[in-house]
Amino acid sequence: MFSSLGVECNILELDQVDDGANVQEVLSEITNQRTVPNIFVNKVHMGGCDRTFQAHQSGLLQKLLQEDSAYEYDLIVIGGGSGGLACAQEAAILGKKVMVLDFVVPTPQGTSWGLGGTCVNVGCVPKKLMHQAALLGQELKDARKFGWEYSHQVKHNWETMIEAIQNHIGSLNWGYRLSLREKAVTYVNSYGEFVEHHKIKATNRKGQETYYTARKFVLATGQRPRYLGIPGDKEYCITSDDLFSLPYCPGKTLVVGASYVALECGGFLAGIGLDVTIMVRSILLRGFDQEMAEKVGSYMEQHGVKFLRKFVPVMVQQLEKGSPGKLKVVAKSTEGPETIEEIYNTVLLAIGRASCTRKIGLEKIGVKVNEKSGKIPVNDVEQTNVPYVYAVGDILEGKLELTPIAIQAGKLLARRLFAGSLEKCDYVNVPTTVFTPLEYGCCGLSEEKAIEVHRKENLEVRLCFTAYFFRIWRSYDNCLSLIDLFCST
Ligand code: FAD
Ligand code: NAP
Repeated sequence: MFSSLGVECNILELDQVDDGANVQEVLSEITNQRTVPNIFVNKVHMGGCDRTFQAHQSGLLQKLLQEDSAYEYDLIVIGGGSGGLACAQEAAILGKKVMVLDFVVPTPQGTSWGLGGTCVNVGCVPKKLMHQAALLGQELKDARKFGWEYSHQVKHNWETMIEAIQNHIGSLNWGYRLSLREKAVTYVNSYGEFVEHHKIKATNRKGQETYYTARKFVLATGQRPRYLGIPGDKEYCITSDDLFSLPYCPGKTLVVGASYVALECGGFLAGIGLDVTIMVRSILLRGFDQEMAEKVGSYMEQHGVKFLRKFVPVMVQQLEKGSPGKLKVVAKSTEGPETIEEIYNTVLLAIGRASCTRKIGLEKIGVKVNEKSGKIPVNDVEQTNVPYVYAVGDILEGKLELTPIAIQAGKLLARRLFAGSLEKCDYVNVPTTVFTPLEYGCCGLSEEKAIEVHRKENLEVRLCFTAYFFRIWRSYDNCLSLIDLFCST
């Protein structure tokens, strides 16, 4: 085929060179492929025979055979969040011509934000600050028992907290822009989507369209909160994308969901003194050690959070407009015909997140997406099935959805693409923390998963007190009961 295209090939017969076996090892390391032919076109790994013929049929091969100068950029990154920014900046440090596109589609409530992605604007950063606000409240209460005397009545002001958090986020947004400028990365505040191989359309807020080409692409578009698909959800409910900049105190709040986002938000809202109910469809913190998840839950319950277990909402109706207004929520049991209704000021949906991969033109260039989950399968060097397109962060199939992972994967990818590095991102045994009022950190397999993988008879299970009780020590009452506990065991 290459002969018929008039393309000059450099053919290395592994069984005819001295270090053929070593070359095969290295190829397998870099490409995850041991078989031959193992084809590279203009330094991009094509794959074997079938993939090369497919690329020829789709026109991709012809594109790759064009000179480097045919493209405006060495790399275009779609998505300026944790993974995208890390990758773009590292590639620029390595001397490449890089563009990053970042665009936030406003929530159904109209909330939008600046450069930096989920973590900085509507994730880890504001979440941790609100968690801190709640812990400070607890410490103020404890302070009296440790001898602090104060006469002022202590109450929490939502607006002050939001202003401080948004100011902090604003400074981070600005810092990212500055850092991109310093590294000569072109930043475009537009929505990117593929229109053909190596070419994207960038649409800005005013609807103006511009086209850009690049030799390589990295997808880092992250995820956005899911909605329930019931009457009233998009009209009246908020998600974590709205909560951190909500201009008014949410009041009596129903949180729907029982994983990281739900429990963390429920925890800090209760911590600042709000009436909070968490509606749980099945179990707390799926995927985490269930004994620990229940300890987190019961600690929250003791500290004022109400749990409504085995219920799901079926309708949300507005009773009164306002800031906040009043909403009637009808919910049904997951175990029988029972339905209940209750009035809340705010309903916060935290039922998981959907990958932003459906509307970025991936079908136009043949990038495979898992139909069901919307996630993108990649090999162990974060390469999609289309050789010049890579992906990092939350949109990856079967990987963890955490900021440090997205950053590490983005950095290492740039080094492999542009500096000859072979280092891959290690996704195994990544520590994570759930910032509920009782902070829970863990690493490795949960007990349930360990039993599934290694079988019960091969395991010895022990509870590690130091990690588990780290946060409890902060509270005076718990401090005393812990001292009792340690003395008696
Ligand atoms: P993102 O950071 O989501 O960035 C993607 C960017 O791409 C966004 O700015 C998006 O608007 C943009 N984009 C999407 N489509 C396009 C397009 N077509 N064109 C241009 N731009 C586009 N992780 C932790 O490790 N610790 C925590 O404590 C933590 N807390 C969290 C709390 C909450 C409430 C949430 C929601 C998440 C939290 N996470 C936490 C997860 C963390 O935020 C994500 O894992 C991380 O942000 C993923 O990075 P990413 O680069 O994949 O995507
Ligand atoms: P998630 O882990 O996917 O959990 C979704 C939760 O919503 C589950 O409790 C699920 O219940 C429930 N749910 C799903 N559909 C529902 C429905 N129709 N009705 C009622 N409940 C429903 O999502 P997440 O909490 O949004 O977290 C997303 C990712 O962000 C996580 O994987 C995590 O990596 C990251 N994150 C990290 C941190 C941190 O590091 N501290 C904090 C927040 C988020 P079931 O169990 O019944 O399915």
